[in-house]
Amino acid sequence: MRRSKAFIPTTKEAPSDGQLASHIFLSRGGFVSQVASGLYNYMPLGKRVIKKIENIINEEMQLADAQEVELSFVTPADLWQESGRIEKFGKELLRFRDRKENLFVLGPTHEEMMVDMVRNRITSYKQLPINLYQIKTKFRDEARPRFGLMRGREFIMKDGYSFHSSQEDLNREFDAMESAYKKILIRLGLDFRIVEADSGAIGGTGSKELMVLAQSGEDTIAVCDTCEYGANVEAAKRSGRSSIPEAPVADFNKFKTPNIKSIEDLENFFKVDAYYTIKCVAKRVIYEEESEIVLFFLRGCDNLQEVKAVNAAGALDIADLSEEELQEIGLIPGFIGPLEQDKAKHVIDNDLINAVNMICGANEEDYHYVNVDMSVLGEAYYADIAEVNEGDICPCCNGKLSFTKGIEVGHIFKLGTTYSKALKAEYLDENGKAQPFIMGTYGMGVSRLVAAIIEQHHDENGCIWTKEAAPYMVNIMISNIKDTEQVELAEELYAKLQEAGVETVLDDRKDRFGFKMKDAELIGFPYTVIIGKELANGLVQIYERKSGENSSISKELVFSQIMKFV
Ligand code: ATP
Ligand code: MG
Repeated sequence: MRRSKAFIPTTKEAPSDGQLASHIFLSRGGFVSQVASGLYNYMPLGKRVIKKIENIINEEMQLADAQEVELSFVTPADLWQESGRIEKFGKELLRFRDRKENLFVLGPTHEEMMVDMVRNRITSYKQLPINLYQIKTKFRDEARPRFGLMRGREFIMKDGYSFHSSQEDLNREFDAMESAYKKILIRLGLDFRIVEADSGAIGGTGSKELMVLAQSGEDTIAVCDTCEYGANVEAAKRSGRSSIPEAPVADFNKFKTPNIKSIEDLENFFKVDAYYTIKCVAKRVIYEEESEIVLFFLRGCDNLQEVKAVNAAGALDIADLSEEELQEIGLIPGFIGPLEQDKAKHVIDNDLINAVNMICGANEEDYHYVNVDMSVLGEAYYADIAEVNEGDICPCCNGKLSFTKGIEVGHIFKLGTTYSKALKAEYLDENGKAQPFIMGTYGMGVSRLVAAIIEQHHDENGCIWTKEAAPYMVNIMISNIKDTEQVELAEELYAKLQEAGVETVLDDRKDRFGFKMKDAELIGFPYTVIIGKELANGLVQIYERKSGENSSISKELVFSQIMKFV
């Protein structure tokens, strides 16, 4: 491509809401342009990167025997009613009516559509397993679209769905998809980690996320310093604590604690470690049609993990509460405890099962109980609701957990029969008996990957594309367009590289060298061949974007050297 003819509108202007490097450089580099909140156009460079990623995904999916399909973006609302997800997805679903008043939804994901396509077409166990996927625009009316392509409302996803006649076969396919996804990310040159993920309201057991490691990531992941264990904090487990503080000595008693309300107050007042105090986090828990106040109790040194809390309550979401709302139902903020309390439902953290020497609110103004033995509660509802802390012991070995940030670029999930049962999608087994399909689902964020690559590969001057994702591999820079010798060599090299199938840009613009170099840095071509003054001595330079190194090479060898690099 001749740069003088290319539509690559680079600019010095960063987007006004640009916080992340990827958002800033993809806009400034002329890859994407914003249309409205969470909506983007892909300009030629952006489209090329998207295609690169899609090609890699397609190649790995073909190798894994998955078959490509393409489902309608507009999906009938009836299907969402059938699965029961129309309420669960709530406002993220963009709904509209056609001229005949039929209700439709812009597809945010395609489980229902895929099940609908397969039901009554695959009817026998002999036709299983099958894995169908597409690479397709999705629409989710996200509450807070942000960070450019990272969290758009319209975005591109690779979504795949597999159908099986046994759990073992689903497990096998799940592992195969995990390896295929791994290969895709390795080919894209990404540093990533596969972690255990929350299975959400859908339930099921196996759910893993592919996290590209980056400080700007929105997800916190707990990783073990010794073994392979890694999990989203939403799902992370721990096997214990590295050290348990010395227990306070006291008899069971109700103690006057005037105005002692916070965990910190209790620590100072009783001179105990927060480990021996019980924290109450009151939340409004939201179900499909109603909501209620639920009290979550955990050790004072722990924090409530909200996704775990939502799952434990079997809810759709949770929200904060005011002190007034608690007082209205007779609770006394600062003094709420799990003993003799029936104003609201309880969920107690697993770490408090049979805990002793505890201090908790006495449900009476200015009073706490000391030396509480939690076993007196008998059959309370216990669940894992605490967020793991850095330094906690790994659930798989004796290593310690630490936190790091990740960008979720993929999510693979053992769905089981949730959708096939809801949509009555069945096949006949060996005995001629109708059975619901056992399903897996495998998602990968294609447009989010574009941003993730740049989050991991950039510097203060712009993008640094990895080889497999680069929109063009080589940029040939004519330093002085009036110098015919420079132009001739550039044209010759350009023709040879094109012929050899190397994607190349010829920067034949009249602008100053410094300006053109800045532009090349911003766009992030892996290699720029600089044809300049040194050509008088038979030399040109190859500039490598990643290392920032410039090496002189004789003009006769430049083609073969580039071929070696690419
Ligand atoms: P998130 O937790 O980031 O909102 P999700 O868990 O809702 O994502 P999935 O339903 O698992 O997303 O979708 C599969 C993949 O699609 C995600 O792993 C992510 O890479 C991508 N994705 C999801 N939402 C968006 C979005 N709003 N913009 C860009 N990519 C997205
Ligand atoms: Mg996900």
